[in-house]
Amino acid sequence: MQRQGRNNHYGDRVMKLQLNDAELASCVGCGLCLPHCPTYRVTGEEGWSPRGRIAAMRTVAWEGAPVDDTFIGFMETCVQCRGCEPACPSGVPYGRLIESTRQSLAEAKRSTPRLQRLGMRVLGHHRLLLVGSTLLAVAQRLRLVPKRIGLTRLPLRRGAPVKATGADVFVFTGCVMDAWQRNTHRATQRVIESTGATCAVAARGGECCGALHTHAGLTTQAQRLAARTIASMPGDAAILVNSAGCGAAMKDYGHLLGTDDARRFSARVLDVHEWLADRIDSLPTPDPTRLRPSIIVQDPCHLRHVQKAHLPVRVVLNRYADVVELDDEGLCCGAGGAYSALQPELAGEIRDRKLGSIRRAIEASTATVVASANPGCSMHLAAGGATVLHPLDIVNELMP
Ligand code: SF4
Ligand code: SF4
Repeated sequence: MQRQGRNNHYGDRVMKLQLNDAELASCVGCGLCLPHCPTYRVTGEEGWSPRGRIAAMRTVAWEGAPVDDTFIGFMETCVQCRGCEPACPSGVPYGRLIESTRQSLAEAKRSTPRLQRLGMRVLGHHRLLLVGSTLLAVAQRLRLVPKRIGLTRLPLRRGAPVKATGADVFVFTGCVMDAWQRNTHRATQRVIESTGATCAVAARGGECCGALHTHAGLTTQAQRLAARTIASMPGDAAILVNSAGCGAAMKDYGHLLGTDDARRFSARVLDVHEWLADRIDSLPTPDPTRLRPSIIVQDPCHLRHVQKAHLPVRVVLNRYADVVELDDEGLCCGAGGAYSALQPELAGEIRDRKLGSIRRAIEASTATVVASANPGCSMHLAAGGATVLHPLDIVNELMP
């Protein structure tokens, strides 16, 4: 039976997709990506696979097929995890193809519903976001927020923001993560400073990197936010990011903006674990009298498949804990930025597979806690019942 994603109500229309023909032609249809695609794994349907989505893009771009609800469904149900990219022997730049397609659909108002666009606009206004988050936290306490949207318990008080102590490195704090997981930023700063480095923070305007906007096809908004973010952290200091999705987006500013300034900025961006792993001996010596806990590591897709920076997380954790691996070769958890809110059924089915892998890891070890270096993944998995912490929350707790 053909399954439909949500929001398939746009009607048929012929439209042009802004796709690069050479990139679109690079898929040879071998199917090696299929087992690495979470939506194919849960549906078993070709149209919900990378190969099927590329074939659909070709029929629209090359054969003039109309953009109908089925096509939009194929594109909107892609988690944009990019698990298909490293599996592809032909090097198909699937991420570019889906981002360009989503951009074309969003610009033609064929996707990205109005409520989502409104939410995206709020992300660029940090004070408004903080106030809105507090109101949402109050609404949760009053049981006014339906459980089915899968939101974890938000903090009523978030404590002090990260404060500058010098200029060795920038700590990027972001929008949603600063509003919902500020404690992780404080832990991150403490771990960075335990190496002897000092931290700077972005000037006003550098609170949202635009990653979620790029995902949603809202490229113009993403470019505006990227330009603001670049201006907020001048100089040569490294920019350390503790959210995999934000780091991946900021490393891609060169492509998004196409300027030398943006390329220079992107070259300064590191996932914070990459920076720490290079200085692992500078971190405090583990207390030999303290028991080393076992910690399960979940790789966010934008750390593993996009940044290819998942191994440094293990190096950092391994200084104080024993790392337990999952058995699913980094298959997506279904969080995907706003995906879990927009495609809750599929996101839930994809998460069930990840939770099964976590259960098996718990049964085979003494571990009960999962480390995830992306706020979206950690909240999505926590909403499914897993105990999830950021790796640097764990390191901060275990450091003498
Ligand atoms: S990005 Fe992820 S969900 Fe989308 S086609 Fe590739 S593997 Fe499948
Ligand atoms: S995207 Fe790559 S792995 Fe998948 S079918 Fe095309 S060529 Fe093969």
